[in-house]
Amino acid sequence: MNYNKKSVEDIDVAGKRVLCRCDFNVPTKDGKITSDKRIVAALPTIQYLVKHGARVILCSHMGKPKNGPDPAFSLQVVAERLSELLGQPVKMAKDVVGESAQSLAASLKDGEVMLLENTRFEKGETKNDPELSKKLASMADIFVNDAFGTAHRAHASTAGVVQYAGLPAVCGYLIQKEISVMGKALADPERPFVAILGGAKVSDKLNVIANLLTKVDTLIIGGGMAYTFLAAKGYSVGKSLLDSEKIDYCREMMATAEKNGVKLLLPVDTTVADHFPDPIDGAIDVKVVDSDKIPDDMEGLDIGPKTMALYADAAKTAKTVVWNGPMGVFENPTLAKGTIAVAQALADSDAISIVGGGDSAAACEQLGFADRITHISTGGGASLEFLEGKELPGIACLMDR
Ligand code: ADP
Ligand code: MG
Repeated sequence: MNYNKKSVEDIDVAGKRVLCRCDFNVPTKDGKITSDKRIVAALPTIQYLVKHGARVILCSHMGKPKNGPDPAFSLQVVAERLSELLGQPVKMAKDVVGESAQSLAASLKDGEVMLLENTRFEKGETKNDPELSKKLASMADIFVNDAFGTAHRAHASTAGVVQYAGLPAVCGYLIQKEISVMGKALADPERPFVAILGGAKVSDKLNVIANLLTKVDTLIIGGGMAYTFLAAKGYSVGKSLLDSEKIDYCREMMATAEKNGVKLLLPVDTTVADHFPDPIDGAIDVKVVDSDKIPDDMEGLDIGPKTMALYADAAKTAKTVVWNGPMGVFENPTLAKGTIAVAQALADSDAISIVGGGDSAAACEQLGFADRITHISTGGGASLEFLEGKELPGIACLMDR
C-alpha cells in the first residue's frame, strides 16, 4: 500500500462542500460525554477547513445502534461539545442523508460547519451500500477522511463515497500522522527495529507476526500470546491462555525468525497465580517460575522479572519500537509490572516509539507514560491491520501524492 497520500493541504477547499469523516465515537454515560478526547483530536483538521473557507459537513458513527435511528446514539451531544471547542455553531442534522441533512448542506456558507446524524443509523453504512454512498457523496465536492479507527473497514462513509461516487479524497491531519509515522516504520525503519507484541487476542495477533518477521530485527512476545509460543517449544503452560490450533503456526514462525535472522524473544520466566483475578483489580497471590516450569494448576498472568530486564534492554537499544498489547493483566496492580517495565523502557529510550492497540494505549495513559511515546495510534484494529501489511480501504481510496 502507498502511504504517501494527499492531505487537506494539497487541495483547494475554499468554497467547496467538504464531507469530512471523523472519529466521534466518544464514550457516553447517561447521555453525557465522559471523554471528549476524540473530539479534541479532530479539531486541527476541522479548523483548517473552516479557516480556508470550506463548507464543512462532518460525519461519524458512535456506538453500535442496531435498528436505525435511536436517540441514545444521537450525535447531538457531539455537536454541542464541538461547537464549544470550535467557538462557532455546529448545525446538527436530524438524519444522515435525508431531507434535514440535504437542506442544511445546501444552505451551508463558506466557513460554516454542520454534523450529520450517526452514520450507523443507516443500515447501508456498514454494508458499504452503493446507494447510501452516492447519497452521502451527493452533498459534497470533496471527501476528507480523518477517522483512522474505522479506516480498516470499507463502509459507505469511510470508502464507499469514493469507490461508488468518485469523490476526490484526501486525508486529514490525524490519518496523515498515523500513516506517516507507522508507514515509515514499516517501509524504511531506523534500525534496530524492535516489535513488542502482547495482549489477549492471540489468534488475531498471530497474523501480524508473519509480516513483522520480514521487517524487524527483534521480535518480542509477551502477554497472553506468549504461552502458545512456549507450548510450541514443548513447555507445558498449565492453565495459561493457549490457542492450541496455532501451536504449529508458532513453530513455523520460530523457524522463519531463525531463517530471516530475526531475534525472537520469549519470556524466560513468568508470574503465575492459581486463578485469574476476580474482580480483575482484586488482591491476588502470585509467584514467579521459569517458563519451562509452569505448574499444571497455575495460570501465567504477567512476564517475570528476568524477562522484564531482558525486554527492557532490547527496547532501550532500539531506534524504532512498535508495541501492541500489554505484557500481562495490567488492570491488576500486582500483574502490571511487566507492562510498566516495557512502557518505562519505551519512555526512556530515544527511539521512535509507536503504540497501537486500545488496551496498550490505555495502559500507557493510565501509567503516565503517554507523553513520552512518539505516537499512540488512535486505532486498535486499524493499527493491527496496518502492521499486518493489509490494505486499509479508508486509506487506499485516498489520492496518492
Ligand atoms: P490491545 O487492546 O492493546 O490490542 P488486547 O486487547 O489484545 O490488547 O489485550 C489486552 C488484554 O490482555 C488486557 O485486558 C490484559 O488483561 C490481557 N492479558 C495480558 N496478558 C494476559 C495473560 N497472560 N493472560 C490473560 N490475559 C492477559
Ligand atoms: Mg483490546
